[in-house]
Amino acid sequence: MSEAMIPADLPLRNDLIGEVPYGAPQLDVPVCLNVNENPYPPDHAVVHSIVERVKQVAPTLNRYPDREHIELREAFVKYLKEESKADLTVDQVWGANGSNEIMLQLFQAFGGPGRSALGCDPTYSMYPEYARDTFTAWHTAHRNPDFTLDVDRTIADIDALEPSMVLLTSPNNPTGTPLPMQDLKRILDHCQSAQVAGAADGVHPIVVVDEAYIEFRDPGTPSATTLLGAYENLAVSRTMSKAFAFAGARVGYIAASAGIIDCLRIVRMPYHLSAVTQAVALAAFDHTKEQLSQVDHLRHTREETAAWLKEQTYNGKPLQVAPSQSNFLLFGGSFDDRGAIFDQMLQRGVLIRVVGPEGWLRVCMGTDEEMRRFREALVESMRVVE
Ligand code: PMP
Repeated sequence: MSEAMIPADLPLRNDLIGEVPYGAPQLDVPVCLNVNENPYPPDHAVVHSIVERVKQVAPTLNRYPDREHIELREAFVKYLKEESKADLTVDQVWGANGSNEIMLQLFQAFGGPGRSALGCDPTYSMYPEYARDTFTAWHTAHRNPDFTLDVDRTIADIDALEPSMVLLTSPNNPTGTPLPMQDLKRILDHCQSAQVAGAADGVHPIVVVDEAYIEFRDPGTPSATTLLGAYENLAVSRTMSKAFAFAGARVGYIAASAGIIDCLRIVRMPYHLSAVTQAVALAAFDHTKEQLSQVDHLRHTREETAAWLKEQTYNGKPLQVAPSQSNFLLFGGSFDDRGAIFDQMLQRGVLIRVVGPEGWLRVCMGTDEEMRRFREALVESMRVVE
């Protein structure tokens, strides 16, 4: 698809004039390591369950689906109990078409004109888009040079800005950096009494933790969902797109207080989750073990790749690698022309991502064969560009 060509006589919103549709390139190349997917397809048993579940709903497609998607919400509760040891009820979870839609609903409900949201950059590049689309001002607190969160600075920015939403990403994209529980608790505690600009006294910011990649964390590390009982102002967003190997199905979800979920129910489109989406997601949850079966291996691939990258040199200096608890690595740090390396990789059939601070590139973990091709292409590309 070409770039958007918007006719000048269309009444596009003034603030959108000059904007282009956002998204990573979707190119037909042999090795796609650019959008942090799980490279392993669903196995045969899962495909079979999907077909069976869809067969069951097909004759009912003349009717709207369950707007409240109760069966799927029960599956979220069960999964979060198994995966994160979170004790939740159905009214504390909510699904949508990817965690992208969850985030948009959060901005629709809690952002808006006169409101602001605070994130910690470098971070996920879609946040400013949700903010723009909901007329919410977007601000960032800068991370430390090692990409960990600067908690004092974040708290100072919360006080200065008085945002209605604080967005924390753990593990963070594009850096892979986890947010330690003690840091999250400090921010949550602070936000319980912080002011929201323009709001009545006693209205405090919500803290959204985006856990899109959480299943790739070190085993035993807690998820923010375990704090939900203690903090009414906490919302934790999750997705089936990453570790769960289900990006094509478009299912994300959120765990929060029942009050926060009720706010999202106000802004959601009627019947936003199709009956087919609900059926397909339930089929995947019938096979949680199979869907997550490659997570350990991908974690291992990440560690091996990080170690290998650190042994490589560019212009005589070893590559830097940001410590990652995710399925991708931000690496380089000193690429003087990262676009040239990206292009050289692409010429060799390997698609990675130009994202994050200058000098860095991001690669997500593929199959063993894909990673072999990544290594080969990177070594050649760096030699050509140096
Ligand atoms: N949050 C983060 C941090 C992400 O990296 C992504 C996808 N790249 C998303 C949310 C959205 O994922 P999805 O809509 O597929 O759930």
